[in-house]
Amino acid sequence: MKRAPFAILAASAALILGACGSAGEDSNPVDTKVDDNAASQFEDGTAMKAIAESGKVRIGVKFDQPGLGFKSAGDPQPVGFDIEMAKIVAAKLGIAADKVEWVETISDNREPFLQKGTVDFVFASYSITDDRRKVVGQAGPYFLTGQQLLVKKGSDIKGVADIKGKEVCSVTGSTSLKQVEEKGAKARGFETYSQCRDQVLDGGVDSMTTDGSILLGYAALNPDELEVVGEPFSEERIGMGYSQDKPELCQFLTDTIQEAMDNGNWAKAFEATLGKSGAETPEPPKMDACA
Ligand code: GLU
Repeated sequence: MKRAPFAILAASAALILGACGSAGEDSNPVDTKVDDNAASQFEDGTAMKAIAESGKVRIGVKFDQPGLGFKSAGDPQPVGFDIEMAKIVAAKLGIAADKVEWVETISDNREPFLQKGTVDFVFASYSITDDRRKVVGQAGPYFLTGQQLLVKKGSDIKGVADIKGKEVCSVTGSTSLKQVEEKGAKARGFETYSQCRDQVLDGGVDSMTTDGSILLGYAALNPDELEVVGEPFSEERIGMGYSQDKPELCQFLTDTIQEAMDNGNWAKAFEATLGKSGAETPEPPKMDACA
């Protein structure tokens, strides 16, 4: 069965804005206990032990995706569902959220950041794909979504069948551009989703495409002008990135998020972020086994 947890949501804009870092938001919705003895629980020589002993972790996240990973210049911490997942992992390593070094990643630099060691982990609307798994480690998925279209209200684009010959933007390094090109659109790549969204608002392009979970956040910021249309036309399996030089991280990440799925923290994280749009809390996805 096709999963379309976000396709049915259009309104409730004010609610999702609550997940964007605005006043009154619960900045720590999941009561994540920081493990003070974290280092002693990991085997010598593992990446987990090294991170826990150093008390430092760098996590690559998006800063411009409301509901997933969002941070304005003045905010002390980013907020969103991806951020909550990352905080659960950091806590297991003995590192509180305010001690995490949050590094902004754009779609195009996620692999290089992991390969060069600029970050230890990526939690950034990061689809698991065979191509990416050739160059980085990806554990999960911890979330499922699907590609959709964002348009100006009243647009003649009502779904993917209408994009032939139209200008459709997304970001370079994402899975989304190729898909719309294959469907006959003129694909235009930008560095960030906010640049692409501005093009839709200005009429420079006809539509923006990416994961439905990202598009809803943008629609919620401009409910009078923008809307998400059509059914999802891909399945995006959102996972956690790590370096292939540290394969032991796969089981650690998978076990840590599985525990959160089992003890209700995953659902609490969803309800406090993406769920504020009115979306029903989905069943957590089944994660891949580590090699
Ligand atoms: N999930 C898709 C990807 O990883 C699109 C979203 C993004 O680029 O962050 O390519």
